[in-house]
Amino acid sequence: MFNIILFGPPGSGKGTQSEKLIQKYGLKHLSTGDLLRSEIANQTALGLEAKKVMDKGELVPDEVVIGMISSAIDANVDAKGFLFDGFPRTAAQAEALDKLLALKNAPIAVMLALEVSEEELITRLMKRGETSGRSDDTNMETIKARIAEYHKKTTAVADYYQQFEKVASVKGEGSIENIFGALCNEIDLRKEQ
Ligand code: ADP
Repeated sequence: MFNIILFGPPGSGKGTQSEKLIQKYGLKHLSTGDLLRSEIANQTALGLEAKKVMDKGELVPDEVVIGMISSAIDANVDAKGFLFDGFPRTAAQAEALDKLLALKNAPIAVMLALEVSEEELITRLMKRGETSGRSDDTNMETIKARIAEYHKKTTAVADYYQQFEKVASVKGEGSIENIFGALCNEIDLRKEQ
């Protein structure tokens, strides 16, 4: 198994690059944002609770997303590997993920960290809000709160993987193809080992 984390602030291009990476490497895409939006669309109790938190730009409780990821891993026993997108977002989630993957003898190979300036993130998210139908993309306050939440809690996840020398930073500005190429280079370096 070959497992990757695609990391970066909201609007850094994780969704776009994930689609391309899973195609190329045959990975199963696990996005906690997508899993939560599907709970909301199905109007489950979990989804209704999560929506309140998401619309404020805050993080859904760790135990909720860890539970969702744990079920998704168990539901994909035949996967060649996973691409985690939007998860882990806190140090506690990172530790929980490592424990889940240790059970499968399949650790994280690399955390790919997309780097994009704050100004560019805000521009992209407001633009996405025009078409995405995502309520958290149309409100400037929510967008700013998500970026603040990223700095407050989520950057700690990069520190966590840095201690194992698993972080590869990639510039997330420029053409989609160039960014994709840079991400593939980092993956291929680790796959050959
Ligand atoms: P973005 O990349 O734009 O932040 P996501 O689709 O990854 O969007 O997530 C949307 C929202 O869902 C987040 O702002 C947060 O409220 C919630 N969420 C997604 N993943 C997690 C997670 N791992 N832990 C806590 N909350 C999460």
